[in-house]
Amino acid sequence: MTSRHYWLPVAGDIGGVRHAFRGRRWEGQPADEAVCGLAVAMAQPSEMDWITFRSCADCRCALLAEAGIEPGAVNPGDSAKARR
Ligand SMILES: [Zn+2]
Repeated sequence: MTSRHYWLPVAGDIGGVRHAFRGRRWEGQPADEAVCGLAVAMAQPSEMDWITFRSCADCRCALLAEAGIEPGAVNPGDSAKARR
């Protein structure tokens, strides 16, 4: 565990996705680059955002890879979406 990260729901045109970001927590910046490389606008998420948004598979796979965990070992069937 060398790199810290946090998750934040990001509203989008397909309902929104929880992305992972570098750092300890969201500091209120208006935009940042997610772990998956996507530049997104950030805003204070609502409780419903946390509940209804799904996690970004690319962010999850990237973090698992950094931790030395094969994504397919955690969630078989999702490994085909791992791009790195
Ligand atoms: Zn992502």
